[in-house]
Amino acid sequence: MVNLTIDGKEIQVNEGMTLLGAAGKAGVDIPTLCWMKGLNDIASCRVCLVECDGELVASCNTPVREGMVVNTATPRVVAARRANVQTLMEGHRYECGTCVRQETCALRTLASEFNVSDSQFYLPEKAPWDESFPLIRDASKCIKCMRCVAECSKVQYCSVWEHSGSGPNMNVFAKDGLPIDAAGCALCGQCITHCPTGALTARDDTGKVMEALLDPEVMTVVQVAPAVRAAWGEGVGVAREDATPGRMASALRALGFDKVFDTDFAADLTIMEEGSEFVEFLGSDKPRPMFTSCCPGWVRFAKLHYPQFVAQLSSAKSPHQMEGAVVKNTLAAEADEAGKRIFVVSIMPCVAKKYECDVPQLATEKGSDVDAVLTVREFDRMLKMFRVDCGALEETDWDSPLGLSTGAGTIFGRTGGVMEAALRSAVFLITGENPDFSACDTTDSTPEKPWVSKHLEVAGTPVDIAVASGLGNTAKLLDALEAGEVHFDFVEIMACPGGCVGGGGQPIEFNKELAVERAANLNALDEADTLRYSHENPDVQKLYEDWVGKPLSHTSHEWLHTDQQTWDI
Ligand code: SF4
Ligand code: SF4
Ligand code: SF4
Repeated sequence: MVNLTIDGKEIQVNEGMTLLGAAGKAGVDIPTLCWMKGLNDIASCRVCLVECDGELVASCNTPVREGMVVNTATPRVVAARRANVQTLMEGHRYECGTCVRQETCALRTLASEFNVSDSQFYLPEKAPWDESFPLIRDASKCIKCMRCVAECSKVQYCSVWEHSGSGPNMNVFAKDGLPIDAAGCALCGQCITHCPTGALTARDDTGKVMEALLDPEVMTVVQVAPAVRAAWGEGVGVAREDATPGRMASALRALGFDKVFDTDFAADLTIMEEGSEFVEFLGSDKPRPMFTSCCPGWVRFAKLHYPQFVAQLSSAKSPHQMEGAVVKNTLAAEADEAGKRIFVVSIMPCVAKKYECDVPQLATEKGSDVDAVLTVREFDRMLKMFRVDCGALEETDWDSPLGLSTGAGTIFGRTGGVMEAALRSAVFLITGENPDFSACDTTDSTPEKPWVSKHLEVAGTPVDIAVASGLGNTAKLLDALEAGEVHFDFVEIMACPGGCVGGGGQPIEFNKELAVERAANLNALDEADTLRYSHENPDVQKLYEDWVGKPLSHTSHEWLHTDQQTWDI
């Protein structure tokens, strides 16, 4: 243990701890910008400076020493921090009024906190960028903090971003100077949610959606992913307990959508298809494991970095694509009669789904399943544009019949949820009996474990399953599978840490990882639901009766499945 004094408080901490960590233990708040716990302590922003034995040092990477006397708020410290924030602002394209990160920009918050109002702002030129790609980088807003580099390489194992030079001459760019669409990006969006400024954003598609809402010849249909209900209120100032799914349905109606559906319905449909596929797979001699395919970030990662596993992906489309295909096919007559064309909008916690909806091989004869994908951040921006008082809205139901869902569909939004929902129904399909919820539980995931595994006996058949989230964890699992160190029959992968609740399209709160909190919300909704098995969803049963026949039927293959091997990134 090491004894030191911080702002007059004597404390004892573990040897090796940083001054920033020790200050946190002492209840002293130090501002940070480039620092990310355990990932980035390069001290490039110099915002966390403190005075220690007469010297100014960066608290994020200075280890504690016996007898240190540290002051975190002397005039010298404050003046130095302010000068550093000012320098960062001067090298940053300062256009807060039109920046999508204006309310969540950590640099703007610091500039305001340090009263930086007297700079001669230098406005760097924007570098060319492929604005059609779902991930947008504006180098003129980059403050070279390296958080994106750390997140992409150390957490997501994609190593898309590189840097060269140092100090004011430092540059960050896509690796080998490649265009972003050729740099191995899975489109998980994690670099966006960890960038402190508007240098990295998701492509804004709200204009496209507004055009559809304004067009009298368009029937606008919106659907909302499971994980959105756990986070949408964060960006519009509605407390988690008040941001209910029913209020979200009303908020969507306030935006003017003609039909408001819940992608949870299609999550149940996915389980019927993927669960049936798994039951067939179990009786086959196909190479193990079968992988879930509902996360397009994971599908992109597999195609880009582990193509040897692509043949083992489930052929099921992701739930929002399924919902889109069902909407376009089953509502076609109603739209024709009204002289309208259908425009499907997906509100998703996800950046990869912006790319997925444009994949031509996923379209049916009715065209693209989905016409536009908005992130939760875009959804929240639209709610503000329309001045919707979300907290005051009455709760309403989803439109029927493509809106009813079960708790199994709701937990799709968190890591392990797809596996749990699939097991609830796969066991039923094999044994004719619903399993206990605890038998399917996958919630013992911890950050230390790259994956969670479980051994089950289903009607005498051994079934080994595994669940991983985050692409670094995924890479470790795939490497272990390839090396023959582990064996599984069924594997769920979600690209974002914690699953879609931690998705790259979710609201951003600087230095807060909210996936666990949001997942608890989804679990509570599942537990409170009267329907908790996808095969018990009456609307899904009716869809099969009226339109699709049965899981894995000819129509099901046309609408709800794809051959993953026939298309490239
Ligand atoms: S793009 Fe964002 S996260 Fe990356 S270095 Fe620039 S400011 Fe930091
Ligand atoms: S979206 Fe994901 S994979 Fe792509 S650059 Fe960002 S962190 Fe890396
Ligand atoms: S985990 Fe969810 S949010 Fe993240 S890429 Fe996959 S589907 Fe999208």
